[in-house]
Amino acid sequence: MGRITLDKVQKSFGDVEVIPPLDLEIEDGEFVVFVGPSGCGKSTLLRLIAGLEDVTGGDITIDGTPATDLPPAKRRLAMVFQSYALYPHMSVRKNIAFPMKMAGIPQDEQARRIDNAARVLNLTDYLDRRPGQLSGGQRQRVAIGRAIVREPAAFLFDEPLSNLDAALRVGMRLEISELHKRLATTMIYVTHDQVEAMTMADKIVVLRAGHIEQVGSPLELYRTPRNLFVAGFIGSPR
Ligand code: ADP
Ligand code: MG
Repeated sequence: MGRITLDKVQKSFGDVEVIPPLDLEIEDGEFVVFVGPSGCGKSTLLRLIAGLEDVTGGDITIDGTPATDLPPAKRRLAMVFQSYALYPHMSVRKNIAFPMKMAGIPQDEQARRIDNAARVLNLTDYLDRRPGQLSGGQRQRVAIGRAIVREPAAFLFDEPLSNLDAALRVGMRLEISELHKRLATTMIYVTHDQVEAMTMADKIVVLRAGHIEQVGSPLELYRTPRNLFVAGFIGSPR
């Protein structure tokens, strides 16, 4: 469950190579953060893993299964978007149920998974509200709930907190870390915020212009940054 391998994955848009061939191993249950400046290819890399973009070259393997040619729905990955993308006219319960309805999951199983997600995310008292009646943090939790009920092999987050104010961001950061501990499921988390990277990651992947500058634990990158770019980005004293 949740082991993801990228083998010489490459992406061009027209003549422009955004991701030169790139290798990466993500272990089962790992919290991996892709960090780097705006435009370095973080979202593109995540979308390639999710199957929302086709690779130009290379191979993606998920749990030992070749996934390069699988459509997003068959990859057993759940993407949590930064714009909450909730349906405003539906209750929280219906929003969370939506992907299960699409997948044809039986009603009683849907109810079980909704209850479980609501408990994990402290949304039990909000299931009958509409998104417009929730705070930003609660809306973000509903978006995560919609991912949880799919019971994915991995969660993919693309700057999920960038729409929240600073105080809320700190709280949600802790909540997502807690969620990772509880579910023990692989999470890939994209951010341009080095504090998020340093506090949340088991493994940080530092990206620059589509290539990997360095991969390591927060402590490794802090103590032994490979170059000034990594040092500057991570904020290490070197
Ligand atoms: P990040 O998420 O790190 O800010 P992106 O992955 O969004 O970066 O973008 C990386 C590069 O790819 C940027 O130069 C961006 O303009 C380009 N890019 C992203 N999506 C497309 C697209 N659909 N068509 C053309 N260029 C794109
Ligand atoms: Mg992006």
